[in-house]
Amino acid sequence: MVSGAWLLLVAATLVPGSSMNLLRGAAVIDPRGTIARVRRELDGDENLAVQRKRALLWGMGTAAINANDDAALTEALLRLDNLSSGTTGDAVAGATASYLRARHDIANGLGDDGGGGLSEALQAADRMLGQPDPAIRAWSRFQLCDAYALDEKADKALSVCRQAQEDYRALGDRWGEADALNDEGIALMSKDRHAEAAEAFERARKLFGSAGSGGDELAIMVGDNLAQAYLKLGRPADALPLSQLSFKHELSAGRISDSLFSSADIARAEAALGRPQQAYERIHDTVARARQAGIGGQLTDLLKTESQIAEQAGQLKQALADVREVLAFTAATNTPKLRAMEAELEQRYAARERDLQIGELERSNRLKDLQLKAAQIQASAEHQRQKFINLIVLVVAAALMAISLLLLQLWRGQRRHMAELFAQTLRDPLTGIDNRRAFQERALAMLGAGQVPAAHPHALLLIDIDHFKHINDTVGHPQGDCVLLAVSGCLAARISQPCHLARIGGEEFAVLCPAYGEEAALRLAEVLRGAVAALAMDGELAGLRVTISIGVAVFDGKRCHDLSTWMRAADGALYMAKSGGRDRVMAAAA
Ligand code: GH3
Ligand code: MG
Ligand code: MG
Repeated sequence: MVSGAWLLLVAATLVPGSSMNLLRGAAVIDPRGTIARVRRELDGDENLAVQRKRALLWGMGTAAINANDDAALTEALLRLDNLSSGTTGDAVAGATASYLRARHDIANGLGDDGGGGLSEALQAADRMLGQPDPAIRAWSRFQLCDAYALDEKADKALSVCRQAQEDYRALGDRWGEADALNDEGIALMSKDRHAEAAEAFERARKLFGSAGSGGDELAIMVGDNLAQAYLKLGRPADALPLSQLSFKHELSAGRISDSLFSSADIARAEAALGRPQQAYERIHDTVARARQAGIGGQLTDLLKTESQIAEQAGQLKQALADVREVLAFTAATNTPKLRAMEAELEQRYAARERDLQIGELERSNRLKDLQLKAAQIQASAEHQRQKFINLIVLVVAAALMAISLLLLQLWRGQRRHMAELFAQTLRDPLTGIDNRRAFQERALAMLGAGQVPAAHPHALLLIDIDHFKHINDTVGHPQGDCVLLAVSGCLAARISQPCHLARIGGEEFAVLCPAYGEEAALRLAEVLRGAVAALAMDGELAGLRVTISIGVAVFDGKRCHDLSTWMRAADGALYMAKSGGRDRVMAAAA
């Protein structure tokens, strides 16, 4: 900081004419810092040269105008008035104060040709024409150029600004020349000479870029003006990067107000590049940020831009609202142009609104139609589905029924088959009466039923055909079977409840008589023996005499105490009948 100030001091001493430009870069780039710095330097050293004092105060005043700091401006003006009114009476200090006042008044719309504003700048310029220092003369000419440009006196500005450029060029002051060129561009813009304006801005940018000491920043600022010229020339693609660069710089430098304008320029470029929606979103956001930052002065310009872009983006309601807000702002001036714009927009909005309503109605009708159709389709689909489900249910039920019937049938068959199989296991296949197994089961069941009945014990008759081997040998095995059948039939015909007949071997039979008693059993045995002996055979067997021997045993629970001992007893009796001559009945010994 110190070394910087010292360097500037040296420069001012070596080139006296450059002293007014001491802080011109800083006053634009960092106005508040500049004001503080000038105060420090002025308060720190009372013996500063008058040239340096006025140059510092010029920088402070310019910075105060740039920063809208009225207190600082008043302070700078007072100090300059002091410098000019004293015994030394520095005329340049007086002119400096006049230029600052003129600039402030024009910028704030306070000037009039009678006293302040432009006329004050003209008077100051008149006083400065006789100055011996060419740098002061150039500076003065440029102040006039700036005042004309600012006051939108384009024709005057053009000629004075060109003279100022020549002055600066003669002095080799690129910064000054660039400044004047920029003002020329502004004047050209106000005369709608956009191509020439663009050229002036391009040259100004180049000069600022090579001027050093903060010139780069100024080049970027001129880029803003150039971007607007490009937009007017229908070159949004060229404008966009310039505005984007400015926007970035202004944001990082905290120059919110400038950044809002750059943001609006970006939106305009985007709209011109055929991206109205994107542009609309950006300008909408920019307006919101301007409101948030409380920058009312800029709001009308931003709202006008928003209105245009909103219209482009089809947001007619917003466009109309913006125009109305601008009108409310400028109610005092009541510009007929804006009123006409509002009327036209309102008309267009109404027409568009009608279109939209009709379109909306048609859309909603179409939608209802579609909904109805969809409902019908859904209902018929539901009906089909239900029918299909019913069919499936029916088919499944029928199938289940068929399967159940089949299974039932199968089960019954199986059961019959099982019963048959079971019966077969208990029946003798040749004679159809109980077999040995059935006999055994019956006998065991009888014996397991309980106590041995004392009065009428169970009786067992074992029957064996006599000389059956011989019969077989005589008539043949098949005829032997017929004999077996005949004997079996003869026995069965004479045996009734509670007695049971079984074939327990080749030509052996057994009769079980539960609770029968020995006497009855012997009687039955005798009946059976007699019946077989009297059996008259026919056919091939005619004349064949068949006899049987019978052994009888009663279940006494002592000698015969189980099936095996019982059978052995009966068998013993049978053996005795055989050995006794056959065709006879024998009872087992007690
Ligand atoms: P006994 O008077 O001592 O009883 O003399 P038997 O010849 O009857 O004696 P045995 O028990 O030696 O002979 C029985 C014969 O019965 C032997 C066998 O060939 C015959 N036989 C066994 N089962 C059948 C059958 O189912 N059909 C036929 N035709 N013959 C059978
Ligand atoms: Mg035998
Ligand atoms: Mg025999």
